[in-house]
Amino acid sequence: MEPTGSEGTRELFEDYGGTVADGFPSIHSPVRHTASGTAYLRSPGVVLLAKPQTNVAGLAGFLEGFDASLRFPGYLDDPTPLPGSSQLAKTAGQVCYASFGARRTTNENAAKYFERLTSAGHGSVLEHASFSFLLYGISRSVTHELVRHRAGVGVSQISQRYVSGAVLRFVERPEYVEDAELHRLFEERVDGAAAGYESLAGRLLELQEGGSGKLSADYKTDARKKVQQTARSLLPNETEAPMVFTGNVRALRHIIEMRADAHAESEIRNLAVRLFLCLSAADPILFGDYRVEELPDGTHTVTTEHRKA
Ligand SMILES: Cc1cc2nc3c(=O)[nH]c(=O)nc-3n(C[C@H](O)[C@H](O)[C@H](O)COP(=O)(O)OP(=O)(O)OC[C@H]3O[C@@H](n4cnc5c(N)ncnc54)[C@H](O)[C@@H]3O)c2cc1C
Repeated sequence: MEPTGSEGTRELFEDYGGTVADGFPSIHSPVRHTASGTAYLRSPGVVLLAKPQTNVAGLAGFLEGFDASLRFPGYLDDPTPLPGSSQLAKTAGQVCYASFGARRTTNENAAKYFERLTSAGHGSVLEHASFSFLLYGISRSVTHELVRHRAGVGVSQISQRYVSGAVLRFVERPEYVEDAELHRLFEERVDGAAAGYESLAGRLLELQEGGSGKLSADYKTDARKKVQQTARSLLPNETEAPMVFTGNVRALRHIIEMRADAHAESEIRNLAVRLFLCLSAADPILFGDYRVEELPDGTHTVTTEHRKA
């Protein structure tokens, strides 16, 4: 394994096609089609949608209320700007010990400040900073694993009851990409699933409508929902299941540690490594203790000495 530091993290982000627009990183995933036109993707797409914005200037009235000898208002004169997420978690931690005076840890040393917290397992201040992502190019089997993480997360996932076959896409596992026969079988299978879904949905809709062409819009919506909730039962685990996923930094760190681990299942590891790369691009300080390592098969893992803060 070849360990890589923050330089290696940035390089890998770029190797995966990562870009940063207005401070918001993303790693996109191209869409492919079988000869019959069935859409599929080969890797997770990760798009940062929201991150903390922090302004400590409002603390002035609070800090000025203490004895002048403590020189607390000096807290607001720190010349080193931090990402909003780091600033929020650091200020939250410094409120705990009223660390606003001259002996406080300044922003310049924020990385060391967080290393002290994470190495001691005092991760609760990390819960203040949350990040929201659009995740796509991920299969139903991966999202089933991801949603097992309950603490500190929020999930809004595509509903197979409410969307039609027009947005059906599938996810090809890396193992199939590398083998021509496995790839051919994958394409055959997803073509079959897409066609099977369409014909089943068509037949179910006919039954719902009872042959009548004069149904109200409400009835049609309800009928389609009933059709889709039944037709989805034939869809395989490799059906794409996009979601918006929000997590606070303590939860996100735990998820990365478990799911970007060398022993994690390969598809969720792909996702967790990309999540880490986008988070590290957005806030290199809160994830500064993490290292990416290349595994013998050319894929990557993420490690830290300070697990489960
Ligand atoms: C390699 C691997 C294999 C797995 N295999 C299986 C399997 O075969 N079958 C299966 O069912 N699952 C399996 N899982 C899922 C696993 O058991 C967890 O459900 C999942 O990883 C969520 O992690 P978590 O429990 O840490 O929960 P999170 O929601 O991520 O919680 C974070 C932490 O908060 C604390 N916490 C959360 N909820 C509670 C609670 N209710 N009470 C007390 N403390 C809490 C715990 O300390 C927990 O670790 C596997 C996971 C991995 C990584």
